[in-house]
Amino acid sequence: MSPPESVLLRNVVVAGDRLDCRLSGGKVVELGPRIEARSEEGVVEGGGAALLPGLHDHHVHVLAAAAARASLDLRGGPLPAGSAGRGDDDSWLRVVGLGSDHVTRADVDAVWPSRRVRVQHRSGALWILNSPAVRELAGYLDAEERRTGRVWRSRGQWGAALEEMSLGSELAEIGRELGTWGVTGLTDATPDLDGPALDAIRASLPQRVWSLGPGRTHLPRKVVVADHDRNTWDRVHAGVAAARAAGRPVALHAVTRTGLALALAVLEEFGVVRGDRIEHAAVCDDRAADRMAELGLVVVTQPSIAARRGAAMVEEVEPEDRPWLWRLRGLVERGVDVVLSSDAPYGDANPWTSVRLAAVGASGRGSPWVSDQTIEARAALGCYLTAPGDPAGPERSVEVDAPADLCLLDSPLEEALARVVDGRTDAPVRATFIGGVRVGQ
Ligand SMILES: [Zn+2]
Repeated sequence: MSPPESVLLRNVVVAGDRLDCRLSGGKVVELGPRIEARSEEGVVEGGGAALLPGLHDHHVHVLAAAAARASLDLRGGPLPAGSAGRGDDDSWLRVVGLGSDHVTRADVDAVWPSRRVRVQHRSGALWILNSPAVRELAGYLDAEERRTGRVWRSRGQWGAALEEMSLGSELAEIGRELGTWGVTGLTDATPDLDGPALDAIRASLPQRVWSLGPGRTHLPRKVVVADHDRNTWDRVHAGVAAARAAGRPVALHAVTRTGLALALAVLEEFGVVRGDRIEHAAVCDDRAADRMAELGLVVVTQPSIAARRGAAMVEEVEPEDRPWLWRLRGLVERGVDVVLSSDAPYGDANPWTSVRLAAVGASGRGSPWVSDQTIEARAALGCYLTAPGDPAGPERSVEVDAPADLCLLDSPLEEALARVVDGRTDAPVRATFIGGVRVGQ
């Protein structure tokens, strides 16, 4: 059954006013105190609930999120002992979190002799393929890689193509689930995402998907600042130069103190342009925060990673870095524009989880520094209501002629946020529309 051509949302609250709202042709076409329903039209009764612009997640990795659903996670352990049997499953198996360092193609064959299997080392930097996988990908591999099955990430051009081949149903499921949370748009922050892989994501998800990859867009170009490498300065420099040549701002991934220092130094050399962002800024002291505020840089951060990984990071980092981990309020108070996002699958894809964590912190689980880093729930939600090209800018609004990308809550806004904050709901969402079409059911 095709969806109705127009939908009337009755008795909803838009920016404080109780109104009816008609969606047609992909847009909001009417907003008023009382609109008569047409006979052929779908009607959704709002009952005084808030109608918001659809939520936008400003930093996510869609293919990795789909892959995480289709994976066997070894959680830092060795390969399973013995053979997992021949199996007649024709699909790829993706295994992640391998803790052993010297595994080769022959070891993976011993467990999975017939199915195509790729195993990711827990560092994320190395894949080990079994023989059927090597045969499938032979054209992409050099002689040594074919022999050992070991392919380093820097060589993995096949990665995106492979994910796309094997993840159709997971992608569709992610799109549906995001719909149940009110999400209508995503910015994929995977550095090289473009071409067929991006097309596959767009074809599989109902959400509107932007990419920080190399394609033609006004959004920033993602550049990773990894600090375990002598060539980092040159690589980051080249990445920013390429973005500037294409007329684009940059999104610099910086998770350590040195990574952030390097990112800021490179940006100061080029000069900051509108739209430049720092992703994560997971270790950020006051001096770095003040510098970012002066330069007008936007920080895109993830409370759900702080909650998942924060306690471990407290152990891992240098003691002098501990007070500066995953700051939120501390950055806001120093004048930095901070935007929340998920970084799914590394953080939690549900935006309401991030709103709750931003509002209450995660102090109960060994992350004492998060509890003094909270912000108001309404401000946290606001991060998801801005435009993809201006994450710290004004909130989008529900208005006539705007795209009908909408999130209808199940109650008035303040009540919904109160329930999110005290954990009484995972997502206070009744219905989600993208281009006027209801999704996520
Ligand atoms: Zn990321």
